Amino acid sequence: MTLQQLSGRVAYLPGANNLGVIATGDGGAIIVDSGIDKDAARGLKKALVAAGLTPRAIISTHHHADHVGGNAFLLKQYPELQVYATPFEAALIQHPLLEPIYLSGGACPPAALRGKWVLAPGSPVHHLLDDWLTVTVGMRRTTTIAGVELELIGLPGHSPAQIGVLVDSVCLAADGFFGPAVLAKHGGVPYTHDVAAQLASLVALASLEVDWFVPGHGAVATRAEIGEHLAANEVAVRGASDLVRAALNEAGDLATITSRVLGMIGHSLAGVAQYAIFSGAVGAHLTYLEQQGEARLELIDTRLIWAAG
Ligand SMILES: [Zn+2]
Repeated sequence: MTLQQLSGRVAYLPGANNLGVIATGDGGAIIVDSGIDKDAARGLKKALVAAGLTPRAIISTHHHADHVGGNAFLLKQYPELQVYATPFEAALIQHPLLEPIYLSGGACPPAALRGKWVLAPGSPVHHLLDDWLTVTVGMRRTTTIAGVELELIGLPGHSPAQIGVLVDSVCLAADGFFGPAVLAKHGGVPYTHDVAAQLASLVALASLEVDWFVPGHGAVATRAEIGEHLAANEVAVRGASDLVRAALNEAGDLATITSRVLGMIGHSLAGVAQYAIFSGAVGAHLTYLEQQGEARLELIDTRLIWAAG
């Protein structure tokens, strides 16, 4: 795979994750996310070498294992490399066991939740982006990394303190939105932590006047295409809320509601990690419905039950 150039300085390496590459102009490069594992990172290294670039910095947009799993490999290859992340996401990047811990409801994670899909090798974060202690939707700050002035934008929702990168009329949007084909792959229920923030981040993306939008997964969109891609994401997120609302027709615990939603969309999951991620998204939609006054959580006898209203 070779780098796909979007502007004079900005390119991306397509794959399961689109990895951003910003040339510093003196043979260096800033990497935006490193992929799920050392194989992904090795592919990135090969593409960088072919382009005559040496990575100087990694901006990790959020802590998910498929975005930071290549950090450790790249740091081993390039010990001078500097990793940047928002303070909240940095905590989870530096302590990657936290992702399977939260997916296990706080417990010491079982073996099935210790695979590469949810547990990345740890990576130091050398620079906390300290303007970003609280990440709000659409907030923008200019910063200089590896000699390149670029702008960061708050895109929380999919992850609590996710950011995107704006440079040379390119928005590297991380998982602020997904390519339309990727939405279908997730049964139309994209992973979310905070549904309201996720929806607001889609609006923030729509207001950007840039030429290119690069999602973490799926097809890159031009300015002419982005409206349609964001609309598909909004349909998916609102559709997921509708599914969860419908599943609440009858009260039930999270596992029951998750099972009903999977049944409604006829979606099958590949394994325990995928189940935990899907169920986490269903939980986020239940909280969203609670925020709208449409759901409530109660302890009834021995069971934790979600009910409508
Ligand atoms: Zn993610």
